[in-house]
Amino acid sequence: MASITLNNIHKTYDDGFHAVKGVDLEIADGEFVILVGPSGCGKSTLLRMVVGLEDITDGDLLIGERRVNEVAPKDRNLAMVFQNYALYPHLTVFENIAFPLRLNKDAKLSEDQIKAKVAEASRMLELDDHLDRKPGNLSGGQRQRVAMGRAIVREADAFLFDEPLSNLDAKLRGQMRAEIAQMQRRLGITSIYVTHDQTEAMTLGDRVAVLKKGELQQVASPRELYEQPINLFVAGFIGSPSMNFLPASLKSEGGRHVLSSPIGDIPVPEAKAKAAEGRDLVFVGLRPEFFEDASLVDEDKKSKGSIFQVELTHLEWLGHEQYGHIEFDPDPEVKTMLSDLAKEMDADELRPVVVTTLSAESRVRPGTPVDLWVDTSRIHLFDPKTGENLT
Ligand code: ATP
Repeated sequence: MASITLNNIHKTYDDGFHAVKGVDLEIADGEFVILVGPSGCGKSTLLRMVVGLEDITDGDLLIGERRVNEVAPKDRNLAMVFQNYALYPHLTVFENIAFPLRLNKDAKLSEDQIKAKVAEASRMLELDDHLDRKPGNLSGGQRQRVAMGRAIVREADAFLFDEPLSNLDAKLRGQMRAEIAQMQRRLGITSIYVTHDQTEAMTLGDRVAVLKKGELQQVASPRELYEQPINLFVAGFIGSPSMNFLPASLKSEGGRHVLSSPIGDIPVPEAKAKAAEGRDLVFVGLRPEFFEDASLVDEDKKSKGSIFQVELTHLEWLGHEQYGHIEFDPDPEVKTMLSDLAKEMDADELRPVVVTTLSAESRVRPGTPVDLWVDTSRIHLFDPKTGENLT
């Protein structure tokens, strides 16, 4: 096993497109790091450079202490697990897993040694009962495990996963996510996992690296990304439903601070007001889960946030919770800000709506005034120009 180090890595394609821009990332021996970002941000390019399927334009790539920029893929000793599993349909599960061992003529393994290695991997992956089957007769999850088995028998220095779960249905994806996480921890093998799915990123990795347009935005634990996103982009990308952003101006009078926003005035604590000082406008970041039906909030909690009256325009019932939507009518300035923000977020558009996650017990109804409580101690304030988190 080994660490993987990326020092100022760049990729410019032949057509001149600068797909990866100066990425620095150190993945410790045994660590599980997720590369996440929207489509086209350069995650696959980065992974393909690590494995050697794509040339590195500039920078240094190290596996352990060894610089491997010019080393052929087969000599990097990394195992790639692809989205389409890349299994051989005419071979049995046993032969698919044994394939890299037979391919490696230098190792000169006996048939008994090959059998023992395949047996060990298939036991770990609970594939022992399926060794005689062909991939066509396996479920998506089982195929996934065969692909991992092939990586395991090679005793690679690291696993590289390229969106391995994107072909699976939602339920199986959830199961496989848990399996991969447990397997990685059990094997303790250095792993890089590429996905555009923030849920996968948050649930799988020790650390998550968020990419936008070829640039690394933040590398941190899932909790840190959620609680202390470095900028608007990371804040909007991590968390589901996404964080709401509202343009607001700060008004301070007699020690009382209020953020004046399109859905109403939100009183904020002194510390938050300080972060916005000296700026005409900020973007307020409110996660849907910062809201609650005020009638369900106890007095102690009430005092830690603020309450404001709104009208919900739409309510989505999910059984365990409900999403209350507050649509607002943006003035031209706010409209422009939201459209600039959409560009910054690499999104098509940002609708003028605030989504709130309310508990299932709430009896609020759309179209009537409701008191919502918001946890103002957790709000984020962002610089509208740079996107930097000010809180
Ligand atoms: P996705 O999630 O859609 O796979 P990604 O984040 O993995 O996206 P990449 O496949 O790494 O993105 O592509 C990054 C950017 O580089 C994209 O804009 C893509 O169009 C561009 N790109 C990829 N391959 C080439 C190539 N061979 N020549 C020119 N540009 C390329």
